[in-house]
Amino acid sequence: MKTIGLLGGMSWESTREYYNILNKLTHAQFGGSNSCPCIIHSFNFKIIDDLQHQGKWQELAELLIDAAKNLELSGAQILMICTNTMHIVADKIESEIGIPLIHIVDAVASDINSRGIKTVGLLGTRFTMEKDFFSGRLKEKHDISCLIPSQEERELIHRVIYNELIQGLILPESKLRYLKIIENLKAKGAEGIILGCTEIPLLIKQEDTSLPIFDSTGIHAQAAFSVAIDNN
Ligand code: GLU
Repeated sequence: MKTIGLLGGMSWESTREYYNILNKLTHAQFGGSNSCPCIIHSFNFKIIDDLQHQGKWQELAELLIDAAKNLELSGAQILMICTNTMHIVADKIESEIGIPLIHIVDAVASDINSRGIKTVGLLGTRFTMEKDFFSGRLKEKHDISCLIPSQEERELIHRVIYNELIQGLILPESKLRYLKIIENLKAKGAEGIILGCTEIPLLIKQEDTSLPIFDSTGIHAQAAFSVAIDNN
C-alpha cells in the first residue's frame, strides 16, 4: 500500500476524520494490526483562516506547496489536500510535485455520476460556493450542474463553518438551519447535496434528509485509499 501525504489541519476537526476513515478502511481491507501508512502536515488553521479572509491566495499557495514538497521528500507517494476550499490552489500545488494529487472535486463527481445525478446543491465555505474552482470543474470536467444557496444562506453556512464547526461546536440550531437550506435547494431542483466542506459531515448526516448526500470527506478519503491500494 502506498504512503498517503495529507495536507491537514484545515481544520484539525476534519483531518482527524480523514485519519480515522483511512485507518478503518485499511483495517477493513487487510485485517489484523494493519493501519494506514500516512504522513500528515497539520497547519495552524488560524494562519490559513486569516490569509483566506484577506484574499491572500498566492501566499496560501506557497505555504501549501512547501508543505506538499516536504511530504513528498518524506516519502508520501500520493497527496491529498484535506479541505475543499484550499483546492482553489490545487493546480499550483500539482504542478510543483511529482506525486499524484487526489482532487476532491473529481472524487465527489465520480460518486455523483455513479448515481446518475445531474444537478446538485453545493454547501461549503463562501469561497467554495462562490468561486469557480468547484462548480466550474464539476460542470466542465464532469457535466454536473451546481445550485448554490442564496447570499443570506451562504453567509450563514460560512459563519457556522468558521465560528462553530472548525472549533468543534456542533449545535442543533445550526443543523436545523442547514436542513432548511437543503430543503430550499431541493425546491430549486437539486437532486442531491454536496457537503463540500470537510467539517459539514460532522453536522449533517444522510439520515437527516431524503436527498442523497455527498460527503466530501468520506468520498475523498475513500478515493485516496483506492489509489493507495491499487498496484498498477
Ligand atoms: N475544511 C473546510 C473545507 O473543506 C473549510 C476550512 C478551510 O477553509 O480550509 O473547505
